[in-house]
Formats: sequence, structure tokens, C-alpha cells
Amino acid sequence: RQRRSQSLYQITEKAADYFRAQLREHPAAGRAIAYLRQRGLSGEIARDFGIGLAPPGWDNLLNHLGDSAEKADQLELAGLAIRRQDSDGTTKPGTRHHYDRFRNRIMFPIRDRQGRAIAFGGRVLGDEKPKYLNSPETPIFHKGRELYGLWEARQANRELERLILVEGYMDVVALAQFGICCAVATLGTACGEEHIQLAFRHAPELVFCFDGDRAGRSAARRAMESGLPQMQDGRSLRFLLLPEGEDPDTLVRQLGGERFTRLIEEQARPLEDFLFDLLAEGINLQTMDGRARLSKLAAPLLDLLPAGVYRQLMFQQLAARTGLDRDTLEEVIIAEKARA
Ligand code: ATP
Ligand code: MN
Ligand code: MN
Ligand code: MN
Repeated sequence: RQRRSQSLYQITEKAADYFRAQLREHPAAGRAIAYLRQRGLSGEIARDFGIGLAPPGWDNLLNHLGDSAEKADQLELAGLAIRRQDSDGTTKPGTRHHYDRFRNRIMFPIRDRQGRAIAFGGRVLGDEKPKYLNSPETPIFHKGRELYGLWEARQANRELERLILVEGYMDVVALAQFGICCAVATLGTACGEEHIQLAFRHAPELVFCFDGDRAGRSAARRAMESGLPQMQDGRSLRFLLLPEGEDPDTLVRQLGGERFTRLIEEQARPLEDFLFDLLAEGINLQTMDGRARLSKLAAPLLDLLPAGVYRQLMFQQLAARTGLDRDTLEEVIIAEKARA
């Protein structure tokens, strides 16, 4: 088991080297470099993040690293090659049994805490679908537990005060291009409890900065729910909702790094404001019915908070907004739990 993982780390690292070299050497590199330039990325940032190119074609990586059946199987296990299947489900002898998973894509290596490449995200150079392709889960890559850019952020900062959680690879890289070297991305999945745990291990303040679209807003809501049980003294969660249609990449290119940072400092709302504003959306708190609805929505969420001062303050907030006392809110929690 250990040895198998060892060789997976090695082959993934070699693949990262290969993709990086292709971005310099391959005849198709010109188009990829033009694409990265057009998105505002310098060669230096591309190097910092180890960005590469999977050239067009079905067996570039296989030819480079999969020169035996055993190695081709390893590439498959590493998520880099896919086993070819005929319509009857068998593989024919004599022909190549695999093809490259990543073809004609810009490659973003995903690194673990020790800086080892463990997986990749690959983006098409145009409008083809799917826009991004990620490595599948492998013995060394569990996407629910990794944050893209965390290793790079730790390299750039001795001590991290803040991590900015974004949705996409390009958001991380574009922010770094503008000197904001503390952004990390979940890998095309919801930002779950394990992501937040990992992020809090490296910084006391997390700022969620998801896209200004429906997906981004629902991601922020889920992140809030995942974060509530992890609120302890000294930790803070904040939320910056971006204007409709913008993401951190497009916004930092408009504003520049300084104004983007100022936006975070001045506009990112603390968890308490974000939570109550979100829940109270469309509720008229002037009415009794409205206050009842807010307490029913909020009480079970606040109940996710661990015991402590923050929890007490949040319940006080809810009490102030609804006019209910603490005992009544306890009853609401119990009643809502019974209903669920
Ligand atoms: P870009 O700026 O390069 O066009 P983006 O990062 O803004 O891309 P979004 O559509 O906002 O792309 O998606 C956010 C993130 O979700 C992506 O960075 C990627 O990690 C993931 N993602 C998007 N589309 C796909 C897909 N088709 N398959 C898997 N993951 C995807
Ligand atoms: Mn989006
Ligand atoms: Mn986006
Ligand atoms: Mn984008």
C-alpha cells in the first residue's frame, strides 16, 4: 500500500514536470501561452504555480511515462490515463490499452501540504466542454480534503493571517498575479467541513469570496453551514458577495490588488451579519409571523455552534431580532429538531 502510493507520487510528479516542459517546448505551446497572456498571467506566476500544458493527442503522456504495461496501469491509478474499452467491454491485445485523460488543456497541478503534485485540473483553451476536467479520486488524492493553492500560499507567507476561499483555479492564480497570495480554491466541489478545518489550521480568518452568481451564493450558504460547528474564540468567518456576473479573477483585474484587498477589508461581512441577513431575506420582521419564521430558521443553525461566548452572543442577536427570550428559543430548537 505504502509502496504503491510512493510510486503514484513519483509518477504524478513526473507528469507535472512533463506538462510544464510542454508549455515551453511543444509546437502547440504558442497558443497556450497566448491564452495565459490574454488572461493576464505572467510567465513568473505560471512558474510559481507550475502551470503546464497537456498537448493535443491521445497518448502524449502515455508515450512519455507509460512505456510498460505496469507503468500504464500506474498512470491509470494516478487518474492520468483511462482504460480503453471496446463495445463488448474487453480490451484488445496488441493495441494500446489506455489513452491520456488530459488532452489539449492548460494544466494546474494540485499540491499537497508537502508540495507534492497529487492531481491536476485541466482547462480547455477555448469554449469547449467540459471547461475544466479534474483528476478523479485516487489513493493519493481526495478532493474533499485538498485546497488548491494552499501550498503556494504557505510558500509566499511565513504566517498566514487570512485565507480567501474562492471557487476556481484561475481565481487563485489571478489574485496571486495581483500580489494577493493567500487565496485557495475548493476543487469544483462544495466547500465542506474538511476544507474549512484544513483552512483554519493555517489561518484564523477565512473570507469566502465566491462568484456573483446563483452557484456562488449557494456555495456561500453551504460554507456557512459547514463553518458554524467550527467557530471558536479567535476564529472568524467572513463573506464577500461579488457583484452579479463577477468572480475574483474578473474583479481583481478591474480593481487591482490594493482595491480588491480594501474591498475585502471593508465589505466582507462577518458571519453574524451574513447569517441573519440571509435568513431574514424576504421576511418582514415587523410582523409576528416574520419574527416566528426567523427564529425557526435561525435557531437550528445557531445550535450548530459549539458552546462558548460566540454562541451566547449569537443567541442574544437572535433574541434581539425576534423579541424572544433565551428559554423560548431553546424550545424552538427542540421543536424544530423534533420536526426534522
Ligand atoms: P474560467 O475563469 O477559467 O472560465 P472559472 O473558474 O471562473 O473558470 P466557474 O464556471 O466559475 O469557472 O467554475 C468554478 C470552478 O468550478 C472551476 O474553477 C472548476 O474548478 C470548477 N468547474 C467548473 N466547471 C467544471 C466542470 N465542467 N467540471 C468540473 N469542474 C468544473
Ligand atoms: Mn461561477
Ligand atoms: Mn468563476
Ligand atoms: Mn472565472
